[in-house]
Amino acid sequence: MKLQLVYPSWPKLEKQTEFHLPPHGPVVFAATLPDGIEITFIDENVQPFETDALADLICISVMLTCQLPRAFDIADHYRSMGKPVLFGGIAVMLHADEVAAHADSVFLGEAEGRMEQVLKDFTRGRLQPTYNYMNNFPDISLVGTARRQILNHDHYNYRGTQMLDLVHASRGCRFNCFPCCNGFLGGRQFRPRPVKKVIEEMEAIPNNRLFVVDNSLAHDKDWLIELFTAMKPLKKKWVSHPLMDNDLVLKLAAEAGCWYVYQAVFDTSETIKNRIQRLHDHGIGVEGTILLGTDDHDETNIRNLVEFLTRIKLDMAEFTILTPFPKSPIRKQFTKQGRILSNNWLDYTCGKAVFQPKNMTPEKLEYLYNWAWDTFYAEGGYQTKMGELFFKVIKQEILDGTYRRYNPGKNRRFKKAMV
Ligand code: SF4
Repeated sequence: MKLQLVYPSWPKLEKQTEFHLPPHGPVVFAATLPDGIEITFIDENVQPFETDALADLICISVMLTCQLPRAFDIADHYRSMGKPVLFGGIAVMLHADEVAAHADSVFLGEAEGRMEQVLKDFTRGRLQPTYNYMNNFPDISLVGTARRQILNHDHYNYRGTQMLDLVHASRGCRFNCFPCCNGFLGGRQFRPRPVKKVIEEMEAIPNNRLFVVDNSLAHDKDWLIELFTAMKPLKKKWVSHPLMDNDLVLKLAAEAGCWYVYQAVFDTSETIKNRIQRLHDHGIGVEGTILLGTDDHDETNIRNLVEFLTRIKLDMAEFTILTPFPKSPIRKQFTKQGRILSNNWLDYTCGKAVFQPKNMTPEKLEYLYNWAWDTFYAEGGYQTKMGELFFKVIKQEILDGTYRRYNPGKNRRFKKAMV
């Protein structure tokens, strides 16, 4: 059986430097497929789309809401040729009804241990319109090493610097932050993978640079200690979402190669300032993720917030406009209050005001968003600040003896040998 796996393109944030990380959803999905399936993979964000007339089944993996319009075009194209289309991924779970109109089959939930049956149904001509495994999570120990061999790593470099490979050590999140859909998607229970399996996966990744994409590494102190202790000998360099704010955890994370984290910065409090200082004390850089347009934001406090970020010497900042994604608590609230202004998913990039802010017009919020980017990066652009962080990593890699000069052709050969 031949399967084409497609990862559709999406509109990028205008203010953000465009670089591409290897996608995670498609390689995790590919690992759940039984042996003997031939896969061709297209990441439309880095390569042109090509119709595969020989594919038996088209699988479309969709992570973002703003990927959906393009995903629907691709699905409609294939279905007009008589090719069956199966959809899966985070955004598919959020927009299941809409997706169903463009699909032969919609897979909802986590795929481990389930694809054998789906493909059996397909070969018998009995593909179901929906496979619904929402809130029916597979045993976390079934999550295996992602099948990165389907990727062409030559696509994932920025000006000659090898980008990070994505890997995950856990699923689920017990928090229920107001703009987030994770409670709906992965459940409110934290589900750590066995450390041994995570280490096996990390060891198998030829790239020395990783992005540990877990929702949050702030759930279980004992598991974090075990994980970071086991990661240390690998000498990988990695970034992650927030880390538990605990001295021992931060120390072990830094020793295990953590070089920067994404950290939500939502106010100008001493708590935030001290948290960032503690990360810096451990030699960990911080990229603040800053959501603009919450109900307590007016023009003055957005301006104060940006001034605060500069004062506390935040390394990098990613400004986004609050976006009421389906199934998030904030969408429920805004819908009730009649404040949703657009349901055009192409606007859901986090760079547009698609709702009515409480204390300003949508236009003013978009103006302040652009102003925040320009002001924070006034003395050195995103590339310069990112370059400074990468330079630190490269220096450490040289000291560790793990530095490898990026060599495009080599990655292509690696891919060929492994697929
Ligand atoms: S924003 Fe992060 S910490 Fe909050 S619920 Fe979502 S995944 Fe969990």
